[in-house]
Amino acid sequence: MLEGIVYKSIDYKETSKIVYLYTRGGKVSVKVSGLNKKNNNLKSFPITGNIVKYNYSDTRVPTLIDYDMILSPLNHSDNLEYLEALRVVILVLNQLPEDINDYRTYNFVKNILTNLAENPKKILSTFLIKMLYSFGVTPNLKECANCKKKDNLVFFDVDAGVSLCSSCGPNVGNYEDWYKFYFAKVSYLNVEDSNYEELFNEIMRYYENFVHLSLNIKFI
Ligand SMILES: [Zn+2]
Repeated sequence: MLEGIVYKSIDYKETSKIVYLYTRGGKVSVKVSGLNKKNNNLKSFPITGNIVKYNYSDTRVPTLIDYDMILSPLNHSDNLEYLEALRVVILVLNQLPEDINDYRTYNFVKNILTNLAENPKKILSTFLIKMLYSFGVTPNLKECANCKKKDNLVFFDVDAGVSLCSSCGPNVGNYEDWYKFYFAKVSYLNVEDSNYEELFNEIMRYYENFVHLSLNIKFI
């Protein structure tokens, strides 16, 4: 069985869908047929955000045979913060380069989705900042862009993607937030909460500047 995360599905002919999944081996697609039939137990497969294990036919167009649900976003459909965070995660997965095929990134994304409902804003921040690596636009959090010192870093310049120390830039700043989410471990919930409104504005600007992706994050 192949395991994957559903990130998109489109209608195909009258009664089928093509479902796109992100897997350890990269992005794949599978056709789901017979969706007009009553009691077709494959009907819930195409829901975006599903994590599934599935079998498919070895035919020219791989076709879904059966599947097991590992995680369904429908379990949290009354949690509005979760739904907004999930929308953003799925949006980013859609943009993810086709050649991302390492199991670490896959396991990371799976972990994010598995924990997302517990603290949607915190886990979404972790996801968005760490995923910059997969887009090849890692923020430089290692040294001051001006004097190259590695300590007393306090300011992260969202438009330039670089950090500044307290001598070269403002002596209060947002560096700590970017640092802690970029280096957050799998136990995300141990990271302290932030002022998410400000942080999401910065993250959105960074994605617009460097990934050319408009995230449009709106928590009510
Ligand atoms: Zn400096």
